[in-house]
Amino acid sequence: MTVLSPSAEERLQTVLSRLRPRLENQISTATSVLEEHSHGEAMDAARLPAAVIFAESTEDVSAVLKECHIARVPVVAFGAGTSVEGHVTPPEHAISLDLSRMTTIVELNAEDLDCRVQAGLTRQSLNTQIRDTGLFFPVDPGGEATLGGMCATRASGTAAVRYGTMKENVLGLTVVLATGEIIRTGGRVRKSSTGYDLTSLFIGSEGTLGIITEVQLRLHGRPDTLSAAICQFENLHDAIQTAMEIIQCGIPINRVELMDSMQMEASIRFSKLEGLRPLTTLFFEFAGAPAAVQEQVTATEELALANNGLGFAWAESAEDRARLWKARHDAFWAAKAIEPTARVISTDCIVPISRLGELIEGVSQDIAASGLKAPLLGHVGDGNFHTLIITEHSPEGYERALELDRKIVGRALALDGSCSGEHGVGMGKLEFLATEHGEGALSVMRALKSTMDPHHILNPGKLLPNGPVYRG
Ligand SMILES: Cc1cc2nc3c(=O)[nH]c(=O)nc-3n(C[C@H](O)[C@H](O)[C@H](O)COP(=O)(O)OP(=O)(O)OC[C@H]3O[C@@H](n4cnc5c(N)ncnc54)[C@H](O)[C@@H]3O)c2cc1C
Repeated sequence: MTVLSPSAEERLQTVLSRLRPRLENQISTATSVLEEHSHGEAMDAARLPAAVIFAESTEDVSAVLKECHIARVPVVAFGAGTSVEGHVTPPEHAISLDLSRMTTIVELNAEDLDCRVQAGLTRQSLNTQIRDTGLFFPVDPGGEATLGGMCATRASGTAAVRYGTMKENVLGLTVVLATGEIIRTGGRVRKSSTGYDLTSLFIGSEGTLGIITEVQLRLHGRPDTLSAAICQFENLHDAIQTAMEIIQCGIPINRVELMDSMQMEASIRFSKLEGLRPLTTLFFEFAGAPAAVQEQVTATEELALANNGLGFAWAESAEDRARLWKARHDAFWAAKAIEPTARVISTDCIVPISRLGELIEGVSQDIAASGLKAPLLGHVGDGNFHTLIITEHSPEGYERALELDRKIVGRALALDGSCSGEHGVGMGKLEFLATEHGEGALSVMRALKSTMDPHHILNPGKLLPNGPVYRG
């Protein structure tokens, strides 16, 4: 007699029925909930998950993974769904494991400048809750992202030039492995030279090696003085030259962000910015003790004016500063509003700072030759920038945008850069990894994946080109 192995659908139903006694009120198959969990930002929905489970504790995550590992059912961790490279798009018969209900600050050690939080807490909520301590967490991707999702994508943002990325600001983690086993990595200390650095292994692993349930974070003191200004330029070259010189001179600037003229025009309209022209613009923030801030301001102003900057405009009040940075964070939505029915695809290249001018000059030529609208903006102090390629919602439109993206990435890689400074790989950047890392490094990554997730149930099809295949 032939014994047929159960189908993927049957295995999924077995898992759900085994989990129901524990998680009955945390499992949803409502269409609107499945739709919400079918995609992140920027990528269209490819497929609905079969079910969404809302975890409320590390033990819930462990229970789900234990069953999924035994039954070989794929699981995609879901934070806030703000990732932009198709990271959370599920494969067939998959469970989307949502951590957004895990929002507790587990411990706050103000005197040591650290805290431990559950992975579903957002960075905005953390900062609101710890405001009275005089401390804050500086990593600030534009969306209302969760700290677990930010770990998983190795996120950064406008403050990375001063405070670093998630990699520099996470001290330790609680992680549930594919088998359901719970481990802790790292600790509370600022440095340790014991063992393999497992914390760094999970930072940027995009839910493919384990699911993060708690994060030990470094906090920073709020600076005495904050000061923000903008400077406009007649051309892109002069603005980039200024940003490069600020970093090369070692000015400890808090933020230095660029928007080109097309992005400025969109942001002036979208964010109702007054008194600004649609010209290439640098946004600056200075922080520290008053005398140190004054020193940074003077040095930056000298560099900007020597590069034909059109003068500094200051955001004096806290409200003006907040408005300016909100406009910067809303740049994606401003670009989207240029053609509301179109699709916006973000590139995310980074190069060593001295190559930035050369890269952006080439990219500007590529954009002009493509005939597409593609405003450009970026965290130029890190050598990182985005072009927001606006294209129609059609396979042809998508292919035209990808063609431009490939040219831009090709230029960045040729200048010792990376295809993603902060958004990650997901599915969107898979094709560039072999060129960026080489087959040797990729085969080590594949071996790690196979060891840590032998049935390949954790977010299959992401991060690793030709990675181990999930066989449902
Ligand atoms: C307008 C806009 C601006 C943005 N600006 C920036 C920016 O400046 N810098 C930047 O870095 N990013 C930026 N992003 C991208 C996005 O905000 C980040 O990638 C963010 O870190 C994703 O967090 P999330 O909670 O939304 O994760 P999700 O999108 O839910 O998940 C992202 C990935 O992490 C995995 N994951 C989620 N939670 C966990 C967990 N607890 N354990 C293990 N894996 C997990 C998922 O499976 C997926 O692979 C921007 C996005 C938008 C829409």
